[in-house]
Amino acid sequence: MVSMKPNMAKGMVTSNTEIEAPRKTVMKKVDFADELMKAGGVYINKCVQCGRCTASCPSGKHTAYRTRMIIRRAMAGFRDEVLASDDIWLCTTCYTCYERCPRGIDVVKVIQTLRNMSIRVGGMLPAHRAVALNLYKTGHAVPLDPDNKEKRLKLGLPEIPPTVHSSSIALSEVHELLEQAGFLDILETALMKQIRVRPPEEGLFL
Ligand code: SF4
Ligand code: SF4
Repeated sequence: MVSMKPNMAKGMVTSNTEIEAPRKTVMKKVDFADELMKAGGVYINKCVQCGRCTASCPSGKHTAYRTRMIIRRAMAGFRDEVLASDDIWLCTTCYTCYERCPRGIDVVKVIQTLRNMSIRVGGMLPAHRAVALNLYKTGHAVPLDPDNKEKRLKLGLPEIPPTVHSSSIALSEVHELLEQAGFLDILETALMKQIRVRPPEEGLFL
């Protein structure tokens, strides 16, 4: 029996088993790039890994989020890892990366597409789930809180502004729109399939 260890260390192919591995990797890569293309219309394999997106990302300055790394992992076909990653939820959609990418890749659309896929496997972060629930419950992603009600009164304004907050009819219209758009089904899936055990931050849910 021939030992494969010495040649593997040099990156050489010595058996059918070893030949299979890189082929599978290439297929995986093409599959996920195509899946992203079909879902979001952006072809990530144009990326040359220059890192301009990471260098200009304001979110990455304060977190471990590295835009180029997400694109790289997606290109390499690490579908499950990318969809389960917290990082894709840290993008603020400021579009700086899109403006600076030398390959014209709409990185924001890639991230949004990845989020849409991630939601379906329960990858949505608790804070984002809370915002989505707020939207359904109040018609506002960031609803009025007691502090702001007090400030409004001090300024001589009505405690409740003339928005969905003050209209049950408008809120029922919001519900109808969200239901017709399938928003609740998607949110329910996200809540049922939570792949994270971390509980939602206290006070985020209304
Ligand atoms: S800026 Fe564009 S080409 Fe450069 S790493 Fe980011 S996505 Fe890839
Ligand atoms: S859109 Fe997102 S990924 Fe791009 S620079 Fe802004 S925060 Fe970073």
